[in-house]
Amino acid sequence: MNAVDEQARRAELAESLAEVRARIDAACAAAGRAPDEVRLLAVTKTFPASDAALLSDLGMTDLAENRDQEAGPKADELAGLRPEAAVRWHMVGRLQRNKAKSVVRWADEVQSVDSPRLAEALAKAVHTAQERGERSGPLDVLIQASLDAPEEAGHRGGCPLPDVPQLADIIARSGEQLRLRGVMAVAPLGQDPEPAFARLAETHARVRRDHPDATELSAGMSGDLEQAVAHGSSCVRVGTALLGGRRLASP
Ligand SMILES: *Cc1c(COP(=O)(O)O)cnc(C)c1O
Repeated sequence: MNAVDEQARRAELAESLAEVRARIDAACAAAGRAPDEVRLLAVTKTFPASDAALLSDLGMTDLAENRDQEAGPKADELAGLRPEAAVRWHMVGRLQRNKAKSVVRWADEVQSVDSPRLAEALAKAVHTAQERGERSGPLDVLIQASLDAPEEAGHRGGCPLPDVPQLADIIARSGEQLRLRGVMAVAPLGQDPEPAFARLAETHARVRRDHPDATELSAGMSGDLEQAVAHGSSCVRVGTALLGGRRLASP
């Protein structure tokens, strides 16, 4: 990017970041919560590493992606552009078990664990990566819960809500490679997100009773972050409202 374009893009991102932070602050105020209770994840999917670099310059420390093939190279590129930046990468998209090895090389946290088999594959991949010196420390994981109607679940991934506590127990018992941090979900398409977020919050509370460290409730995106904050979200994942419209839907 040339210097003039970069300057313009930086100003644009600074403005949208301020707007999103103001929305989060207002939602927290309305819910009687402190603004520092809600973390902002910038979802950089389909946008270049240069945008991730500018967001990092603007103080963003948490970046998220939904496809391994796109995220790995982007994380490498950002490390080249901003070697000093303290950025944490989050995987928020549907994940096949055969991608576990690749994901643990770039992701600090995987928010989309939705089955015991995927958890097992990730634990194994972390172990191998540690042995090879490719990573240190455990992988933070969230359980992705499905808020879709049963007939639509499966398309978008996610563990059925009633099965979440059991999956939490399995992950907690799986050894030291995975650290259960909480629960994540995407609101159902074309419906009022409020009842779905309320059900999610109930399930999260239940998981937290047995696993006190699973404090994260990752819910809310560009279109519904206010409703998610009202229902206790501790982590909103925002793409469009920060970076603009995506030209290509990320599959
Ligand atoms: C793309 C994506 C987001 C961000 O969505 P926007 O509506 O662009 O803010 C959040 N969470 C997940 C899982 C996503 O795939």
